[in-house]
Amino acid sequence: MCCDGTLFGFVELASGEEVRLRAWGIEPIRQGGKLGFRQSCPAWSAAGCGCYGVRPATCRAYRCPTLIALEEGSIAADEAMARVRKTRQVVGELRRLVPDGETLPGAPADPKLLLLAGVASLLLDRFFRKDHQKQLQVERHVA
Ligand code: SF4
Repeated sequence: MCCDGTLFGFVELASGEEVRLRAWGIEPIRQGGKLGFRQSCPAWSAAGCGCYGVRPATCRAYRCPTLIALEEGSIAADEAMARVRKTRQVVGELRRLVPDGETLPGAPADPKLLLLAGVASLLLDRFFRKDHQKQLQVERHVA
């Protein structure tokens, strides 16, 4: 999920990293003044990261909340794997509902699709994104 565009649409690069990554088909762009590349990553495959030994510093440094919780011992491996499985299942169902040639923001406003998109976003925010990366920010105001 980290490398296929599910979690993030853009990976920031440090200055100079783009030179060595071009060999893996990673084409640098500028977005909001930052150098990086778009996900899904061309170096990624079912076998994992194709450029693991020279992957960008952003990829090396990223530790999702579930990995941190696992390393700290606040959740067990079973719970971490259950989070991954559930989120993959919801994202997979969502992908099957998006019509061919459409992207999610532009897809028809089918209620089931919108509901699954909300569930997927909540799962990704809650278990795999850091606070500043969360996409669903809803505040409840009590009158
Ligand atoms: S460079 Fe490797 S770790 Fe980074 S996004 Fe691409 S496949 Fe993932």
